[in-house]
Parts: sequence; structure tokens; C-alpha cells
Amino acid sequence: MNLDTPIKEIPRVGPSFRKKLEKMGIKTVEDLLFHFPHRYEDFSNIRPISKVKLNESNCILGKILEIRNSRTWKKKMILTEAIVEDKTGAIKVIWFNQPYLIKVLRAGDVVCLAGKVSLGDKGVFLSNPAYEKIPNLSKEPGSRAIGKLQIPNSKLIHTGRIVPVYPETEGLSSRWFRYILKPLLQRFKNRTPEILPQKIIKKYHLLPRNQALWQVHFPDSLEMAERAKARFSFEELFLIELSVLRERLKLDKEKAPVIPINVELIKEFVNSLPFKLTDAQRKCAWQILKDMERNRPMSRLLEGDVGSGKTVVAVIAALNTTKAGYQVAFMAPTEILAKQHFGEVTKLLQPFKVRIALLTGKEDKIISQKLKNEILEISRNKLLDKARKGEIDILIGTHTLIQDKVKFGKLGLCIIDEQHRFGVEQRARLCQSYSGQAKVIPHLLSMTATPIPRTLALTIYGDLDLSILDEMPKGRKKIITKVVPPQEREKAYQFIRKRVKEGEQVFVICPRIESGNKKQEVESNEREVLSWAEAKAVKEEYEKLSKEVFPDLRVAMLHGRMKSKEKEKIMRDFKAGRIDILVSTSVVEVGIDIPKATVMMIEGAERFGLAQLHQFRGRVGRSDLQSYCLLFTESPAKRTRQRLEAIVEAENGFELAQKDLEIRGPGSLYGTKQWGIPDLAMENLKNLPLVEKTREAAKSLLAEDPDLKNYPLLKEKLKKFIKRVHLE
Ligand code: ADP
Ligand code: MG
Repeated sequence: MNLDTPIKEIPRVGPSFRKKLEKMGIKTVEDLLFHFPHRYEDFSNIRPISKVKLNESNCILGKILEIRNSRTWKKKMILTEAIVEDKTGAIKVIWFNQPYLIKVLRAGDVVCLAGKVSLGDKGVFLSNPAYEKIPNLSKEPGSRAIGKLQIPNSKLIHTGRIVPVYPETEGLSSRWFRYILKPLLQRFKNRTPEILPQKIIKKYHLLPRNQALWQVHFPDSLEMAERAKARFSFEELFLIELSVLRERLKLDKEKAPVIPINVELIKEFVNSLPFKLTDAQRKCAWQILKDMERNRPMSRLLEGDVGSGKTVVAVIAALNTTKAGYQVAFMAPTEILAKQHFGEVTKLLQPFKVRIALLTGKEDKIISQKLKNEILEISRNKLLDKARKGEIDILIGTHTLIQDKVKFGKLGLCIIDEQHRFGVEQRARLCQSYSGQAKVIPHLLSMTATPIPRTLALTIYGDLDLSILDEMPKGRKKIITKVVPPQEREKAYQFIRKRVKEGEQVFVICPRIESGNKKQEVESNEREVLSWAEAKAVKEEYEKLSKEVFPDLRVAMLHGRMKSKEKEKIMRDFKAGRIDILVSTSVVEVGIDIPKATVMMIEGAERFGLAQLHQFRGRVGRSDLQSYCLLFTESPAKRTRQRLEAIVEAENGFELAQKDLEIRGPGSLYGTKQWGIPDLAMENLKNLPLVEKTREAAKSLLAEDPDLKNYPLLKEKLKKFIKRVHLE
């Protein structure tokens, strides 16, 4: 048996257990050994029975004098009652509904029991304790004496020590995990080789791997448990750092087209804008232009709140690229957005004679600046042909851009809007659609409105350089945000009616599509368990608003299960002002520009993360009209209200994202759950000092040995790790 042995070959793991383990992603011996407890019970202090403490957790060691089953007087429950004695006294023990225990534990057995001591009608008793039979008491070295009894430390696994508690999923109990893991650990003692370089172990005072593996499951003390966890946290983050930094090194070895900065051109462009660039926009544009001047591919993420003006920054880079004789591919996640960008980019670049084209699912458009900005519809084949020949300077589109047929003659820059909506592979594919000179990789500029907290920027996004638009264009009115309790709902509706009468538009966001009749339980952010039925559903809300509350207004509905044609039509109608109130799930496009929308009303606001709420809010306030964000919550919990209040004052998406990260963890925030990042690393994605340490360690190791030639075990582990983790 080795670390890669499938779990079915482990003794005592039968087919049904195997299935359950596999469902949890545990497939090999190694996976099982690295399934860590999430907490510990400290039963290390064995008390004499005469000294047990009421209403506290106690661990005792004694002999069973008698044990039998009985029924409660209501005959509903089976009790197993026992009397256990040590040299200081005896105590009654009661287990509930575990009648099989009398077959496991018998009079005369010596047992270790751990549980709470309670006071019942008939006196003090040990309630439902964890139990462990002590088979052969011996005088082995290292045993400790309790009364006359000697027990070897190493024999105890459920009691009498610090006991690991595993996340109990799929009906696998902690007791079962301990039972399986103990012999397995013994078997693999000293067989999990160290993968970290000794220098790093020394420098960061880490426990050696073998020792840590033992201590994380069966620690000698709580401190040792902590140190063991710290070691594996370090290891996991270190592997993440190594993989992203190596990715980066690989890219740095590639060649990219050199795009010189045309200062005159850029000045001219900036002067042609109807507004003044913010300092942040200038700074970011400069960083991007500087990157592209080098012969190595840029890989940069432009981050900025909704409305911070990312598009114009991207257009500066695009214009500079086209005038250097290279093409630009600009990819957006949806057709609406692609069209919006096409409109915006053609407008901004009007004076500059740039040939811009739009490639979507259905219609293909090209704008030829020589023909006085006339928009031409041309056939797809013709458009693709022009792209190949380099007769299109900027090609804007959706996923269509990464189809095999799309080739560029001289691609210099790829721009990806809302990058989190695309996978790593799709991004890579876009950069490869370069048919020209082989082995030259275009520069990549990704954009996102999802703020990435520093810890994530240094880990899973660690291969990207960051440019941050941390400043909003001047003159934007602050969006007035209010948390609305149930009793003020009517008032809010009146307010909405008033806004619509003024010619303004309203978004209503609901947490889900339909209210189910099945009582599916969900856990909300606050860990209050609510039933799905309580969540405001789009369809119901649409019925209510269109028929009862606003029968005289134009109400429409939008959700992810609609056909994309229908969705597009609704968004078009809303944009054109043919709809007053749009009831929607969170599918509403992030980047969509609806200048007349002034009210963002969110139902069940407590169900969304703060950063997500902030993004919803960013969909209004796009003009000089005063805008409003109304956060509806039916939750009476004070914490919910408090959490929501945080967004009322906050204007900065980064702060909110950081708060979310602290409150909810990275899983819910960035969909990191799908990435297969191990639990410990996940937990530590918010631990900035540790992230910085591991990054420093990884950097200096790669500086010394970029191919990890001298660290074959580490290299192999890294390979395995990368296979398992999809960093997106
Ligand atoms: P986002 O960062 O959300 O993609 P956009 O690029 O769509 O934002 O810009 C939002 C709006 O702000 C656009 O209408 C754009 O013309 C405008 N805008 C961009 N930069 C400035 C600026 N410096 N001053 C005023 N308005 C600006
Ligand atoms: Mg945008």
C-alpha cells in the first residue's frame, strides 16, 4: 500500500463507505490521510469519578459493573444504563437510543468515557458519552497510571486525549474516521516524505511533515494541533504561490509585440473626451501602456468599481495598439455588453479613423471610418476574412471571438471585460487566435468590477499584475442607500411610483426564480436556516407587482432560465425606456448602462454578499439624476441589519469585499468553492501575514531554482496539486 493506493484497498473500508468517501473527493490513501479534523475535543484530563464536575465535559476511566437496556416510561426511547466504577467511586451512565451498545460494552470491561455530567430525577449521571474499550491494560513504557489502571497513551483514540472531530458529511462519523485513520497513520508513519526545502522549514519554524500529519489528527496538545495546522496551511498556500509564480515566469519568457507609446496620439485622444480623466484612470492607462512597450506579454487586471470608467482606459490602450499597426480583440461576456461596447468605442474613436467591427451570434457589423462612420452590415465570412487580413483594427464580440474560425493577422492586444465570467482556458484561447508570426503572444488586459482583496490578489490572482481604479469620476452623486424593514414596504412602493412618474426606471432584484413548494432548506449568510419558500421569488414578485401594486405601470421580468433571445429583448426594451420596473434575479448584466434607472430595490438583501449588493447598486446612478438603493429584509436578526448597515455608508467596493471575505470566506465570494482549493488554504486565503510569508518563500525559492530541479518531491507534489486545483 502506498499513498496513491485507492481507498477500496484499505482494510475496513467497505463499498458503502468507499462511495461516501468518494463523494467527498477522497479517493486515495493520501486523500484520506489529508482529510483533517476541523476541531478538537479536549478529553485529555481523566478525572477520578469522585471529582467529576456537573454540567461540564468529563473524561473518566473505570470498570463497567453492570449494563442493560430499558425503555423510557413513554416507551418511545431506549436507554442504555450502566454503572461504572473506579477506585474513587461509581457513576451512572446513560446512552440514548443506542441499544446495540450492550453488545459492545459488557460488565467487567474497562472503559474510558467522555461526556457531560448532568443532574436527572434520579441523581447525577454521565450523559451519552463517547466510549472506548481498553482491551489489554499493560505496563508498557509511556503508560500513565490512573488509579491502579495503566493505559498506554497511544491506545486511546476517542477519549482520554485530545480527540479530533471531523467534518461529518455523507453520514461518516468522526468516530469512524478515527477508527480508520489511526491504523492508517501508524502504517504510514514516516512515509509521507518532506516536500518543503529544509531551509524553509527552519526559517519559518515549521513542523516536519510526518510529525505534523500525526499531530494534526492525534495531537499531544492543543498547541501541537495548532502547529500542525499551521504547517499544512503554509504548505498549501506555498503550493498555490509556486504554481501562480511559475505560471508568471513561463509567460515572462514568451515574446510579445512591442507597442511603443505614441504620446501625441494619446494626448489628442484625451483632449477629445467630453470629460477629464481621473488621476486613477491616467495612472492605470500609463501602467498598461508601459507594460505593452516591452517585448514580453502583459498580463494585467484592471480592477475598478462599477462606473469607475474602465472602458475608456481600455480604449486608450486599444487606440495606441492599432496605431502601432496591431489589432485588438475585445471580448465581453454577453451580446448586450458587446453591443454597448461597440457603440461606446466607435463613439470615442470617431475622430481617429479606426476600423472597428462587431462580431456577435447573429449580426456582424463593421464600421469603416473612411466612410464617415457609416455602419455596414457584412457577412460573417467577409468579416472573418477582413480580420485575418488585418483590415479590422478592433474586433469586439462575445465568446464568438474564440471560435476556431476567428483568426487575426496581427493581434497585439486582447481585452477581456468582466474577466471573472470567463475561464482561464477561454482567456488563453483568445490570446492564441493569432494567425500571424508564430510564437508571439499578444498582450492581455482583463477588467473586472469585482474587487479582489489583497490576499486573493497575492494568491489565486498572483500571476496577474494589478491596476486599480480607486477613484470615481467627479460629479457623480452618491447613491442614497437605505435598509427597509417590513413595516416600511408600503412607503417604499409609493416612493417608487413617484420616481416612475418622473420618467425614471426601477430594478427589483430577488434572490431566486420561483418559490418552491418543497421545503428545501438553505443556509443564509447569517447561518439562520430559512426555507427557500421564504425567499422572494422573481415570478411571484412579478405577479404581485404587475397585478396588485403597480397595475398601471410597465413591469417586466428577467431571469436566468429565460432564453437568451428573450433576455436580450427585455434588456433592450428596458434600455429604450419601454419598461418602468424590471424584476430580476442577479442575472442583470453588471456593465449594462441604463442612465434613467434611479432605483435599485433588493429583496432578501441579507442573502447576498456585501460586495454583490454594492455591484447591484452600481447599476443605478449612471447619470446626474439622484439614485437610490433600497435594501429590503424580512430578517429580524439584529446582526443581519448591522451587516447591511455597513453598505449604507461604504462607497468602496474593496472594503466591502474585504468584509465579505472575513464574514463569509472566499468560497461564497468568488466561487472559489469550485476551484478545488484544499480547506486549510481556503481558510487561510484571508490571512494576509501568512499569504505574504508564503509568497516571499516561493519567490526566493524560484529565484534560486526556477525549475525546482533540486526539489523533485516538491515538484511532483506541485504537479499533483495543479491537477487538482483549477485556478480561475
Ligand atoms: P465601468 O468601469 O463600470 O466599465 P464605464 O467605463 O462603463 O465604467 O464608464 C461609466 C461611465 O462613466 C461612462 O458613461 C463613461 O463615459 C463615463 N466616464 C468614464 N470616465 C469618466 C470621467 N473621468 N469623468 C466622467 N465620466 C467618465
Ligand atoms: Mg464596464
